[in-house]
Amino acid sequence: MRTDLVVVGAGAAGLLAAVAARRLGHEVLVVESSGQVGGSTATNDGSLWLPANDLTGHGGIPADTADSALRYLNGLAAPESDVIAARRVAFVRTAAAVGRWLSTSKIALEVVKSLPDCRPDADGAASQGRTLRPRPAPPKLDPEWVGTLRGDDSVKANPGLLSRLTSPFRDPGELTGGAALAAELLRRALASGVEVWLDAPMTELVVEGGSVTGVRVRRADESVQVDATTGVMLACGGFEADPLRRTENLPAPTSTVWSVGVGADGAALTAGEQVGAAVCGLDQAWWTPVLLADGVAHRVDLARVAPHGMIVDQAGDRYLNEAQPPGPAGRRMYEHNRGMRSVPSFLIMDSRHRKTYPLGPWAPGTSPKAAIESGDLVRAARLDELAQAMGIDLAGLIGSVVAFNQLAKRGKDSDFGRGDSAWDRHFGDPLLRRNPCLGSVAKQPYWAVRVYPGDAGTKGGLVIDDRSRVLREDGSAVPGLWACSASAASLFGSFQPGHGAGLGAAVVEAYRGVLDLSGQLDQVDRALA
Ligand SMILES: Cc1cc2nc3c(=O)[nH]c(=O)nc-3n(C[C@H](O)[C@H](O)[C@H](O)COP(=O)(O)OP(=O)(O)OC[C@H]3O[C@@H](n4cnc5c(N)ncnc54)[C@H](O)[C@@H]3O)c2cc1C
Repeated sequence: MRTDLVVVGAGAAGLLAAVAARRLGHEVLVVESSGQVGGSTATNDGSLWLPANDLTGHGGIPADTADSALRYLNGLAAPESDVIAARRVAFVRTAAAVGRWLSTSKIALEVVKSLPDCRPDADGAASQGRTLRPRPAPPKLDPEWVGTLRGDDSVKANPGLLSRLTSPFRDPGELTGGAALAAELLRRALASGVEVWLDAPMTELVVEGGSVTGVRVRRADESVQVDATTGVMLACGGFEADPLRRTENLPAPTSTVWSVGVGADGAALTAGEQVGAAVCGLDQAWWTPVLLADGVAHRVDLARVAPHGMIVDQAGDRYLNEAQPPGPAGRRMYEHNRGMRSVPSFLIMDSRHRKTYPLGPWAPGTSPKAAIESGDLVRAARLDELAQAMGIDLAGLIGSVVAFNQLAKRGKDSDFGRGDSAWDRHFGDPLLRRNPCLGSVAKQPYWAVRVYPGDAGTKGGLVIDDRSRVLREDGSAVPGLWACSASAASLFGSFQPGHGAGLGAAVVEAYRGVLDLSGQLDQVDRALA
C-alpha cells in the first residue's frame, strides 16, 4: 500500500490533519487503533482555547491580540527552551487562522460566554473570548460511521449543573461538543477521499537511511506495510494507558485506572525511540481530580466547585481551593501528599449537594444502591460515621467542617479563596449570588467519595519544533516525521492557560504540520506576521 501521508490516530487532531492535507492535494490514509473515531475529543465538550480568534472584539466579547496571549503564556511560566518559545509564538499567531479554517469547513464555533482564562488576574489574561466550542449540529455522517463515534454517556446522563452552565450535551438527535467536531471532521475527511482504517494500530515506523518512509500497521491479524511518500503525522495521543511508563515518569502514586484519557499506550514514544527522537515533560499530565465508580474514573470538576461540599485530606483538613482549574487542583493533591496523605482525598457533601449537583455517574437526587454497598459512595447520618467509613481523622474533620461553615456564612473563603476568581465563579451555581461556590456542609445525611489525582491524558512526549517536525536530541528534524497534540511534548509545560488549551494546541500543531509538509508554512507565516 502506498500513499502520500499516513496520519496515525483518528482524534480531532488527526482528522483535522487529514482533511487539511487532502485539501492541499495529498492522498491520505488515517490509521486508528481502536474501532472508534474521535479520540478523547469526542468524549469531552470540544472546547478550543484559540487566542485572538475572529469572534473576539464583536458582540460584547473584548478584543484580543496574539501579543497579549503570548505575554499571558510567558508570564505563567517562562519557556523552558528556545524551541518552546518559538512554538508559543507560532501558536498565538496561528490560533485565529485555525478557528477561521474550522469555520470555513462549516464547523460553526461559538464563544463560551463569561468563561475567563484559568488565571484571570494575570497580565495578558482574557476575561472571556479565548475558549470556543462547536455549536450543536445534527450528525450528517452515514449511519455506519455515526456508530463508530466515541461518546461519554456518563456526562449525557447527568445534565444537572452542566445544563445550567456549560451545556455540552444537549438535545437528543444533535451532536454536541467534541462529538460534533469529530463527526464533522470525519464526514469531511471521508467525503474528500481520505481513507480511514479502524482497528488498525500502527506498530512501528518504517525508517530508511534515517528518514521515515511509512508505517507498519496491524490489520485483521496481519502486519501491513504502508509506504508514505511525504511522511507520517503522529496524532496518536500520549501514554496514559501504559502502566510502566506511568510508574517511571509520573509522580507517585499513579494508576491507569485514574485516567479518563482515551487509553493511548505510548505508541508515539515507541515510534520516537526508533528514530532517536528527543522527549520532554514526561512527568506532566492534564491533571483532573476524579472519583471511582465501579473501577471507572469520572471527573469531579463540577461536584468539587458546587456549594455544600468540601475536600479534605486524611487528617480531615482542607488544603486547597476546591474550585480552582483541574490542572492546578490535581498538582496540589500531589504536592500536599508529600506531607500529609491526600491521595486519595475526600469530597464531603451534605444532602443539598447530593440533591442538586451531578456527581460522577450518579444523577442528582439519587441514592445508588450498588455504589453505596461497594463503598464507592458513602452516606451517613452523622459526621463521625462518615469519618469512620472513610478512615478520616474525626477531630480534624469536625474542626474543618465548623470552620468551613463559618466561611460559607460570610460568603468569603479567607483560607483558600474559593469563589474569589472569575474562573471559580463561572463554574459555580449561579443561583447562589454572594458566592456561587460556597455553601455550608450542614444538612444530613452527609455523603463522601474518595478523590484521586486523575488525568485526561499525559502532557509529555516527543519534542517538536514550531513546524511540528519531530526533533532529535541534537535539534535536527527527523525527515518525514511530524507529531502533534499529546504525541508531542506540550508547549504549556506544567500549567493550564485556559479551558480547551489541550485541544486548541492540538489542532494548531496539526494544521502547522500539514502546511509544513506541503511546503506552504513559510508563506502562511509571512501572511500572519
Ligand atoms: C475526558 C477528557 C476531557 C478533556 N477535556 C478537555 C478540555 O476540556 N479541553 C481540552 O483542551 N482538552 C481536553 N482534553 C484533552 C483533549 O481531548 C486532547 O488534548 C485532545 O482531544 C487531543 O486530541 P488528539 O486528536 O491529539 O488525541 P486523541 O483524541 O487522544 O486521539 C488519539 C487517537 O489515536 C489513537 N491511537 C492510539 N494509539 C494508536 C496507534 N498505535 N495506532 C493508531 N491509532 C492510535 C487513539 O485510539 C485515539 O483515537 C480532555 C480529554 C479527556 C479524555
